[in-house]
Amino acid sequence: GNTSMQTTGASGATKKKMNGYVGFSNYPNQEHRRSIKRGFNFTLMVAGESGLGKSTLINTLFESKVYPAKDENSHAAVGTPSAPGGTKTVEITSVSAEIVENNVKLRLSVVDTPGFGDSINNEQAWQPILENIESRFDAYLAQENRVNRSKIVDNRVNALLYFIKPTGHALRAIDIEFMKNLHNKVNLIPVIARADTLTAREVEQFKARVLADINFHGIQIFRPVSDQFDDPDTIADNKAIAGKIPFAVVGSERFVERADGTRVRGRQYPWGVIEVENEAHNDFVSLRQMLLRTHMEELRDATDVSLYETYRTQKLLALGHVQDNTVFREFNPRQQAEEEERVHGAKMQKLEAEMAAVFKQKVQEKEGKLRQSEEELHTRHKDMKAVLERQRAELEDKKRRLGISDTPHAMPVHTLAAQDVAQQQAQSKD
Ligand code: GDP
Repeated sequence: GNTSMQTTGASGATKKKMNGYVGFSNYPNQEHRRSIKRGFNFTLMVAGESGLGKSTLINTLFESKVYPAKDENSHAAVGTPSAPGGTKTVEITSVSAEIVENNVKLRLSVVDTPGFGDSINNEQAWQPILENIESRFDAYLAQENRVNRSKIVDNRVNALLYFIKPTGHALRAIDIEFMKNLHNKVNLIPVIARADTLTAREVEQFKARVLADINFHGIQIFRPVSDQFDDPDTIADNKAIAGKIPFAVVGSERFVERADGTRVRGRQYPWGVIEVENEAHNDFVSLRQMLLRTHMEELRDATDVSLYETYRTQKLLALGHVQDNTVFREFNPRQQAEEEERVHGAKMQKLEAEMAAVFKQKVQEKEGKLRQSEEELHTRHKDMKAVLERQRAELEDKKRRLGISDTPHAMPVHTLAAQDVAQQQAQSKD
């Protein structure tokens, strides 16, 4: 994979390097292929109580270069800007990397948010995050309303990873509060943080409880669609990924040695090693797979078509733009584009109808002309015939006067009589 680096321009933005093949340029969908020709953005946000491993997971995502590195040397090539465990996230920061694959550009941004427990008022922990998400919608809306809409920068948040504390019990009030305040603004993906602190059995039970709580409180989380692909294997893979929500993840900055001597990203315990990129140990690989490969486009679509659309409509209604045809349309570039398309379509239809009418008229004219010349030929033929007939009659007359017989040899009388009979019979038949 081709790699380039970029900063986001957001406060605290950090340069990150990414290598390796992601697979986003291989989406089957034609529509998508067109959209990625121009390159596209994907923005992921992480939120949750501080100390749950958000920064670590971001670094794990980037430093695993989205897809595993091919050799150990490339690990050394990646610089770690700062030890995330050492510094607390106090403001909303953004890390961004540009990945180029088959000439398709993906700008992946990960937004880190201040964890709860840092502020005095924990109940309002969702507030700055909601504001950040909405301000990104506003920025997009402002661009949409510009006359020149060709260079829209899309920094809308496509997915929010919400880190749940691995208590092993149930969702806490703060989790419920947070998710309820954000679920209709962002694709919410709950993850169970620091999954290595729970046993496999505890993880299963906790997942079931978290899902039950989410359903009970009417929280809308992102539910990936699995049957958008034709290939049964892909459908099965996607179902397996969807079945892992809430993903139980483990992040790590460090490399540990496995029993076979190979070094992998993971966490060392007295009883053994937890590998980040081992699907038997935790759901990190599935989460990365869903975000960056299988459901990236679906997340982008849901952001644009559903979440942003709803936000925009509410915003405009709140601003007093009543949804009547005159006032609202002015502020609705999408509707305007549709209207333009409709008008254009009508124009084309009219033009087509006009062309058809002209064609028909021309054909009729031609047919008329043909008929006319046919008639003319007919009359000319008739006239000619009449002239000839007249000339013949005159000649007959002349012959008779000169005493020339029509028949060179005289016919016997009985033959003439027979002819008369035949003629009479023919006449009586008419
Ligand atoms: P943040 O405040 O949510 O960004 O959390 P950090 O990423 O700064 O991590 C806080 C501490 O948790 C650090 O000491 C990390 O090494 C540790 N940590 C991060 N991820 C994991 C994990 O998956 N499992 C365990 N056991 N510890 C983790």
